[in-house]
Amino acid sequence: MESIGYYNGTFAPMEQLVIPALDRGLYFGDGVYEALRVERHRFFALQEHLARLRESLALLRIPFSMTNERLTAILQEAADRVDSDSQQIYVQVTRGTAIRTHAFPEGAEANLLIFSRGVALADLQEYRRVIVLPDTRWSHCNIKTLNLIPSVLAAQAAKERGCAEAVFHKGGIVSECSSSNLLLLKDGVLRTAPADERILPGVTRAQFLMLARELSVPVDETAFTLDEMESADELMITSTSAHGLPVGFVDDKPVCGRDEALLRRLQRAYRAHFWDCVAGG
Ligand code: PMP
Repeated sequence: MESIGYYNGTFAPMEQLVIPALDRGLYFGDGVYEALRVERHRFFALQEHLARLRESLALLRIPFSMTNERLTAILQEAADRVDSDSQQIYVQVTRGTAIRTHAFPEGAEANLLIFSRGVALADLQEYRRVIVLPDTRWSHCNIKTLNLIPSVLAAQAAKERGCAEAVFHKGGIVSECSSSNLLLLKDGVLRTAPADERILPGVTRAQFLMLARELSVPVDETAFTLDEMESADELMITSTSAHGLPVGFVDDKPVCGRDEALLRRLQRAYRAHFWDCVAGG
């Protein structure tokens, strides 16, 4: 199959999947999600994604009794039903199905939605363009909730300007991008905003930091300013789908390209680690 959908025990082609209108994900965005890469039908960083899913569920106080073993088995079945060797799988858990009242509904069971489809790995070579926008999101960006309107609008603004991403800042301090983290290289140091409530703690971000430490590249988890961003040696957008994309233009101004050797070394280390993980299981 080209793609697959799953909702509370039923598999169906993604376009035919039916979800009740009273799923709280639909009218409140009352749920959380994860997106993972599946290469040759094996998951990358599955435990890290499951841990973050549990963390998001706990922070929103959504009870979800399914074990990780059971959830993994369903995810594997979904991935196995899709032919593509290169997939992106989406997992969503909402607070349940109930008549619309704001407070938590009593006795509602969480709803599990999954879909997977073939998505090719990103090309890491080309330097990308980004725009800069104020970060108008809420104060719990560490929770991977379904409420993504500021990110949707920012991604659209970026697209309309021919850019790959929108970089968010609050009062001149860079937080992250609309659907990725931002890493900076300066004088041989890899720097990125700390994993607090202002950013989503990206799995890819954590992997890059781990690999940098292994390569003896100093790591600094201190937020940087817009000025520091523009004078960076290199910038990298990191996410599950992007892996690590170099940035060459900020608001149409040429930036970076000053430490391509280190940038490419880190990218290579990430891809090697990625292939090791999906090969070794
Ligand atoms: N920040 C935001 C706002 C995101 O939505 C994402 C995921 N798309 C990321 C960062 C990157 O997270 P990950 O590396 O786990 O995909």
